[in-house]
Amino acid sequence: MRFDILSIFPEMFVPLATYGIIGRAAKRGEIEINVVNIRDFGEGPHLMIDDRPFGGGNGMVMKPGPIFRALESIPRVRGDRRVILLTPQGQLFDQSIARDLGKLEQIVLVCGRYEGVDERVRSRCVDMELSVGDYILTGGELPAMIIVEAVSRLIPGVLGGVRSNVEESFEDYFLEYPQFTRPRVFQGEEVPSVLLSGDHGRIRLWRRAQSIKRTLERRPDLLEKAHLNEEDRCIVEGLRQKQGRLE
Ligand code: SAM
Repeated sequence: MRFDILSIFPEMFVPLATYGIIGRAAKRGEIEINVVNIRDFGEGPHLMIDDRPFGGGNGMVMKPGPIFRALESIPRVRGDRRVILLTPQGQLFDQSIARDLGKLEQIVLVCGRYEGVDERVRSRCVDMELSVGDYILTGGELPAMIIVEAVSRLIPGVLGGVRSNVEESFEDYFLEYPQFTRPRVFQGEEVPSVLLSGDHGRIRLWRRAQSIKRTLERRPDLLEKAHLNEEDRCIVEGLRQKQGRLE
């Protein structure tokens, strides 16, 4: 997977491409992170990339020309590519979008700044608009990093085979079960005894029940999208009955 990121602050991506799992995947060549400085395509002697909005109003708007030229400078790799604008007005990014994006060969991420980008960037060269949440950030760089992170860890080999994504929160619309490590007792609180039992069948059941309980308590909306098998339905029913008795 190749990520091309258009930004006026390319240095912000150095830590992402250097450290941790993403940094290692980039070094191993499982992903490629190429950052293009939009300013290199700016206009006039000062390489201007922004201007005042037509019609008046506060702040500056990113000019379309530099973004168009920056996009044109990016080589097309073979396979499917998508150009994505980061914007609070976009579709809300989630794990299922991450999974879809993970099937592409190339993702181009356009990071806005100031009051955002000229509408013609949106209408003429963007395939998709994504938001990372209902709040306003100062730029698209952090949202772009979120997308690179979430998509990269779904690419085979990126997690180094150490663990799979299958059991993680959102993978099947359930939140993950509680995790424990050493010590066995911390500040008087003990690890649930089932996890020390060595009985893998009981551990699996306990984890599934905890996962469903968490989802029911914290994100009942997710359960509507989840595929529940017979065992899951029994667990949900049991939890609902218990909840009913407590009310
Ligand atoms: N005036 C714009 C609006 O109301 O839609 C917001 C501009 S914001 C200050 C500057 C840039 O940050 C945006 O162009 C976008 O690239 C990025 N940004 C801010 N919040 C975001 C979010 N929740 N998701 C994705 N990108 C965001």
